[in-house]
Amino acid sequence: MINDPESMRLFQTGEFGLIRNIRGRCQDKTDSIITGIGDDTAVLRGSSKKILVTSDMLVEGVHFDLSFTTFFQLGYKSLAVSVSDILAMGGKPEHFLISIAIPANCLTNQIDELYSGILQLAKEFGISVIGGDTSASRDGLIINGTLIGYGRKIVTRAGARPGDLIYVNNTLGDSAMGLKLLMKRRKRVHKFTNLTPSLKLIKKHLMPEIIPLKSISNLTSMIDISDGLLIDLNHICDESNVGAVIYREKIPLSSELIDISRKEKTDPVQLALKGGEDYALLFTAPANSKVKGIKIGEITEKGRFIIDEEGKKKKFKPEGYEHFK
Ligand code: ADP
Ligand code: MG
Repeated sequence: MINDPESMRLFQTGEFGLIRNIRGRCQDKTDSIITGIGDDTAVLRGSSKKILVTSDMLVEGVHFDLSFTTFFQLGYKSLAVSVSDILAMGGKPEHFLISIAIPANCLTNQIDELYSGILQLAKEFGISVIGGDTSASRDGLIINGTLIGYGRKIVTRAGARPGDLIYVNNTLGDSAMGLKLLMKRRKRVHKFTNLTPSLKLIKKHLMPEIIPLKSISNLTSMIDISDGLLIDLNHICDESNVGAVIYREKIPLSSELIDISRKEKTDPVQLALKGGEDYALLFTAPANSKVKGIKIGEITEKGRFIIDEEGKKKKFKPEGYEHFK
């Protein structure tokens, strides 16, 4: 057993054995990387572009439960959440550092799986893993990713102006329903083949779909929807010092969400408004500009309202996910 690398535990491999292994898998050579994994720091070549840096932490028991998620899915998601942030600023993600605190009874092949998930998404976006840190954990697994991206035009939360239209670029609420289904199932999904509507929703939660925009040139503000449409739209309103109206009937829902919500007797729109973890982009642009997206409302001078199917206007509160509450 002990010689079977498949069943090696980390206390057998040790920190340096683990890093050697990771280094062997993360050997991207690009013009911008002078030194990747292996020295005291990574060394990157500077350019005239702006540099975007973001960090995201996933904590076992808070953000994920290893009885519902595989290490592969966890790795994928740990990068996906940061890619979403860089895209939400209008940048191109390129360099990733990943720090992990691992319980000593973890299997080396579980960490290999984690990196397989990271590297799958990294490949999709042309991202290189250039470093990180490794520690033992006395408690659960903790993953902290830092992603560096580059861009010329940056799109912040602060540029929305009255009269701008509000857009999203994907359906909302799928991830929240996926989580609900996963909590009921209470087991992992190892392969997403033969996707039933339920599995499609679960997949959206475990491995969020990250869709970049083709063009950001006309946008005035942008944010990624991580905490829920209402909270994240509220962030744009706060930072831009404007109001907003959105139309309930215009909020994009997937057919899977509509289908399963009927069975689960849940209001899909509530999940779309407050569910969170959609990782869709929410953005604004002047009404006369050419923009690809799903229009859901308008920026106004002040006030935050949602208009229902009967045309009734109601104030909305920024409800969704918030830590410590
Ligand atoms: P230091 O003691 O200087 O922090 P380490 O031994 O932790 O050095 O790291 C050696 C090299 O391995 C560095 O380039 C570091 O970025 C990289 N590294 C360490 N842990 C990881 C990890 N979990 N994933 C990717 N790279 C890592
Ligand atoms: Mg270190």
